Amino acid sequence: MRTDLAVIGAGPAGLAAALAASARGVGVTLVDAAAEPGGQFYRQPAAGLGAGRPEALHHRWRTWERLRDGLAASAVRVLTEHHVWCVERTPQGFTVHALLGPEQEEPAEVPARAVLLATGGYEQVLPFPGWTLPGVVTAGGAQAMLKGGLVVPGRRAVVAGTGPLLLPVATGLAAAGVEVAALVESTDPGRLARHGPALAGKLPEGAGYAARLLRHRVPVLARHTVVRAHGDDRLTGVTVAALDAGRVRPGTERQLPCDTLAVGHGMLPHTDLADGLGCRLDGLAAAVDAEQRTDVPGVWAAGEATGIGGAALALAEGHIAGCSAAARLRGTTPDPAPAAVKARTRLRRSAAALDSAYAPPAHWPEQVTDDTVVCRCEEVTAGAVRDALDLGAGDERTVKLLTRAGMGWCQGRMCSAAVAGLAGCPPTPSRRPFARPVPLGVLARQHYSQEGPS
Ligand SMILES: Cc1cc2nc3c(=O)[nH]c(=O)nc-3n(C[C@H](O)[C@H](O)[C@H](O)COP(=O)(O)OP(=O)(O)OC[C@H]3O[C@@H](n4cnc5c(N)ncnc54)[C@H](O)[C@@H]3O)c2cc1C
Repeated sequence: MRTDLAVIGAGPAGLAAALAASARGVGVTLVDAAAEPGGQFYRQPAAGLGAGRPEALHHRWRTWERLRDGLAASAVRVLTEHHVWCVERTPQGFTVHALLGPEQEEPAEVPARAVLLATGGYEQVLPFPGWTLPGVVTAGGAQAMLKGGLVVPGRRAVVAGTGPLLLPVATGLAAAGVEVAALVESTDPGRLARHGPALAGKLPEGAGYAARLLRHRVPVLARHTVVRAHGDDRLTGVTVAALDAGRVRPGTERQLPCDTLAVGHGMLPHTDLADGLGCRLDGLAAAVDAEQRTDVPGVWAAGEATGIGGAALALAEGHIAGCSAAARLRGTTPDPAPAAVKARTRLRRSAAALDSAYAPPAHWPEQVTDDTVVCRCEEVTAGAVRDALDLGAGDERTVKLLTRAGMGWCQGRMCSAAVAGLAGCPPTPSRRPFARPVPLGVLARQHYSQEGPS
């Protein structure tokens, strides 16, 4: 069924955008790969689990209730379990191409006059010896198991890496009964202090996490990193060490027994669909103007697809984008709530401060031994990447051509930043024609229905 505005992604940004546009009289279809709206921040437990108090696992539950109830009362058409693999420009506007169901083999199409991309972000994980052992999970993955599956990944966990996401993960696991042996953060707290004014608004949230870490007796090891995960067929412990100017300080290594390591090194924006549409990127994020418009007419973007900044910023940007899209489709003037515009300015400032304060240790590649797998899909080791560099490869693409790193199922989403780091070049946005793997049969049927039998 044709729609005025297709919003892709039902996280905070997409929900705010869909509600704002729908309230302004525009026909909205909200499309998401997940079984329920909510995105990463408001990930919901599966209905069959019968969660009695899902709010116990969430922050800002009232905001979620407002979004959920608003959606139920609105005219927004919600399409869940629709994995969008491409958005195509057509003479009438756009066609959103999706794959349905758990097997993702059944195609679906949503023709739309305009498109709003609210596809969020994904985690960056850098390799280290032992990181592929069972028991090592991403920090967000541990959080997703807890919020979506009501399960904990183990009994004794180390939470490690860098970034604000480690705080809800460590406190969430501890509150769920996991013994958190340490929160290992590579960033120097002094770097955060240097951004005092920009982060002033984040102080109450930070103080709340500090109090919860204290209450659950979680030791915090700042300026530390995990240098190795140990175990034969699954994780039994990790070695952590202190950092000095981004390098492991010799002699500071010590072992922490654990059955779970939840590790993450920040987030990256999901820009496959924006890139496929030809939208300009600013660094690794979709570039937008003050109304959240991309440079492709009829395409808006909001939330973490436009830069990592947290759920509150995603809500503000989504609202502004939804108001703009509705106005431009109806030929009126955008009327975003002034509070949302103010919040966006303030929250972008604190997001920029957090982004420059939190960073993986500058010399992390030094810890990656030659036998460490870097590209898990194609089983390419750091040694193979280094051999490619010795042969003259100086960028990710040439390393990929020489080693197959990034050519597998995830199409470089997991290993791209690692390969760039080993090659000593800045990460570049990957060009992927499709945002998801697409069965050949779906492509063939589409060609057949467009061209007819020959
Ligand atoms: C795994 C994970 C766990 C997190 N946990 C926390 C936490 O506990 N606390 C916290 O403060 N922050 C957390 N964050 C960060 C937080 O979720 C974000 O700041 C916030 O959700 C951003 O909102 P958004 O609307 O931009 O994107 P998201 O909430 O990420 O929503 C994006 C939506 O787009 C959908 N989508 C993406 N691509 C496609 C596609 N091709 N087809 C169809 N649908 C698609 C996704 O299914 C998702 O529902 C987490 C992030 C991740 C990745």
